Amino acid sequence: MTYCSRCILPATFPGIRFDETGVCNFCLAHKSAQETEQKRSKLRETFAELSQSLRASDGIHVVLAYSGGKDSTYTLWLLRTCYHLRVLAITLDNGYVSPRSFENIRTVCETLDVDALTIKPPLSMLNTVFVGSVSRGVFPRKSLVRASPICSSCMALTKNIVLRIALERCVPVVAYGWSPGQAPLSAALFRLNPAMLRSMYGARTDPLKDLGGPELDPYLVSDDLFDQVRTYPYSVNPLAFHPYDEDAIRAQIQVLGWTPPDDTDGNSTNCLLNGVAIRLHLAQHGFHPYAFEVAEHVRSGLITRDEGFRSLGELGSPGLATQVAARLGIDETMLQCNPLNGR
Ligand SMILES: [Zn+2]
Repeated sequence: MTYCSRCILPATFPGIRFDETGVCNFCLAHKSAQETEQKRSKLRETFAELSQSLRASDGIHVVLAYSGGKDSTYTLWLLRTCYHLRVLAITLDNGYVSPRSFENIRTVCETLDVDALTIKPPLSMLNTVFVGSVSRGVFPRKSLVRASPICSSCMALTKNIVLRIALERCVPVVAYGWSPGQAPLSAALFRLNPAMLRSMYGARTDPLKDLGGPELDPYLVSDDLFDQVRTYPYSVNPLAFHPYDEDAIRAQIQVLGWTPPDDTDGNSTNCLLNGVAIRLHLAQHGFHPYAFEVAEHVRSGLITRDEGFRSLGELGSPGLATQVAARLGIDETMLQCNPLNGR
C-alpha cells in the first residue's frame, strides 16, 4: 500500500493524487500555519463578541451536542468558562454509549452547572438505521470520506435533534465539538438560513428518513418547523478556532471530574459502536473512516506521522466488537479487515 509521504492518507483514499515526491494533493492544498492562525484568531474575536451580546438575554444561549467524549466535554468547558454562556447539553443515547460515558456526562454537567437532556429513541429503530446505513449504501460516497456510514447516520440524527430543540425553544446558537480534522475551519462559525439548512441537512436527513421510516419523524426537523422559524441560530464549532492539544484537553477536563473511559476502544472516548463502525468501513471502503481527520492533525503538526499511523492501527478489543455486532444483529464475518491495508 502506498501512503502520502507527508501525512497518512493511503492510495485507496477517494480523490487522492500524489506528486513526484509522493506528497498528496490534500497536503499540497494545506494552508500555512500562519494563515490558519490569523483566521482562528479572528473567529475567536467574533465568537467572543457574539457571546457578549447573548449574555444579556435570559434563557439558554447554546444547545450543544454532548456525547460525553473528550472533545465535546472540552467544548462544553469552553462555552461555560471562556464565553460564560448558559448551555443545554443534549446527549443522544444511541444504545451504545458506554456506562463510563454516562457517569462523565452527569459529573461534568453538575460541575459546570449546565442543563442536560438525554434523548433515547427505541433501540430497534436505531439498529435498523445503523445496519441499513451499512448494507444499503444510502449515504453519498463523498460524505463517507470523513465518517463511517454508522457514524454518519448517528451524527445526522444528532444534528436533527439538536437543531429541532434549538428551533423550538428559540435558542440562538447550536454548538458541536468536532476536532479540527473533523470539520473545516470555514464551517467553524456561521449563521444558519433555511436554504442552507435544507441542502445541508437534506443531504444527510433524506437517507436517514429512508432508513428509519416515519418512526423517526419525532426526532427530525420537519418542513413545517423550517417554515415557522423567524430567526435562525448560529452554528459554532469552537475547537476549530481554539488550540487543540490532546494532552492539554484531557488534563483540563479531568479537573472537571471527567475520567478516561476503560470500556471503549482507542479511537472513541464515548461510543461502543465505534470499533464495529470502523471495521465495517475498512472492509467495505478500503480506508479508515478517521484517516482524513488524523491526516489533518498530522499535517497541522498536532501529532507526528508515526502517532497518526499508531492511532489508526488501534481497532480496539475484538471481543467488544463481536458483542456489539451481536447486539446490532450483524454477521461477525463482516468485521474482517486490515487496519492499515497491508502497511
Ligand atoms: Zn498527504
